[in-house]
Amino acid sequence: MDYTARLHSLQLTVDHLQFDTLLVTHPPNLRYLCGFTGSAGALLVSAGGSVFFTDGRYTQQAHDEVRGAKIAIARKAPQTAAAEWLGRQRPGRRTKRSRSIGIEGEHLTVAAIRRLADLLPGHMRLREAPPLVEQARMVKEAEEIEAIRAAVTTGAGLFDRALEVMRPGISEVEIAAEMEYAARKAGAEGMSFETIIASGVRSALPHGRASAAPIQPGGFVVCDFGVILHGYCSDRTRTVWIGPASAEARRVYDAVLEAQQAAIAAVRSGVKAGQVDRSARKMLQKNGLAKYFTHSTGHGVGLEVHEAPRVAKGQQEVLRPGMVITIEPGVYLQGQWGVRIEDMVVVTEHGCEVLTPTQKEFIVI
Ligand code: ZN
Ligand code: ZN
Repeated sequence: MDYTARLHSLQLTVDHLQFDTLLVTHPPNLRYLCGFTGSAGALLVSAGGSVFFTDGRYTQQAHDEVRGAKIAIARKAPQTAAAEWLGRQRPGRRTKRSRSIGIEGEHLTVAAIRRLADLLPGHMRLREAPPLVEQARMVKEAEEIEAIRAAVTTGAGLFDRALEVMRPGISEVEIAAEMEYAARKAGAEGMSFETIIASGVRSALPHGRASAAPIQPGGFVVCDFGVILHGYCSDRTRTVWIGPASAEARRVYDAVLEAQQAAIAAVRSGVKAGQVDRSARKMLQKNGLAKYFTHSTGHGVGLEVHEAPRVAKGQQEVLRPGMVITIEPGVYLQGQWGVRIEDMVVVTEHGCEVLTPTQKEFIVI
């Protein structure tokens, strides 16, 4: 990854927006900008260069990982060290005006902002910056897409494991445990999020975490899972039926699949994220199911499992080649069951590439 180029490009934006310095504190943003994978750090980005602050636990790691920024090891919290470092900078000749320090408002607590403000001298003031790093992270470089591809391939294997162990009587958590063990055995650094195995009436909960409930015949099982590999996440959902399936179950499943395919077909460079969402909704509407689709169609995936852009109603973000998003419509009939099908796709000039080309037909166990 070319951290120097990323930092340079961010510096130009910071300057353009008339911030003197941007203080970056969100760990995935730190990783993106300078390669640091630890949990405590702060990075100051300005025209004069970038300085990365961490504490003594990370001395070796910072020297091994951080590129493109100077490294400062502090005896105190990295944010405090960064603010004190700023305080020691003499106001330049041209700066009669106050200096503006950009902060990541989405990622700092009120208490942290107050502490920072208390440490800064009077001529420096904190100003919330737009999510500049998140915006840069939306479009993936070739190397990132390869990392995501590897995570998707590893993640895909977990569903095979789920199908091997899934049978009436086994609990949701047992299935999740088998999948997570398989993930670790395959080299995953962790799960992208808590594995969702939601069976029977629980499959109507869009985010039903695996529980002790045993799998029972006569319902769907929603399996939503992902792994982290080389820092990048995967995210995928498959839904299977247990026991003899009703015509209604097949009808709803096919409608969700049709909606998912319609949304995938709508993805291409230049299209607004909201249009992709609309394609999925329109198809469900045709089948009288739109009101049961209660969440957005998808989201960006990268260093975080949920990142920009949002693929949701009215979203104006224009898709660009290299964006990696999920397409995951679902239908949830409260008290009965639910269905969701999710793939990750990478936006291309004329369409998209589905990263996991696996079958999505109705599976009965
Ligand atoms: Zn998912
Ligand atoms: Zn997702």
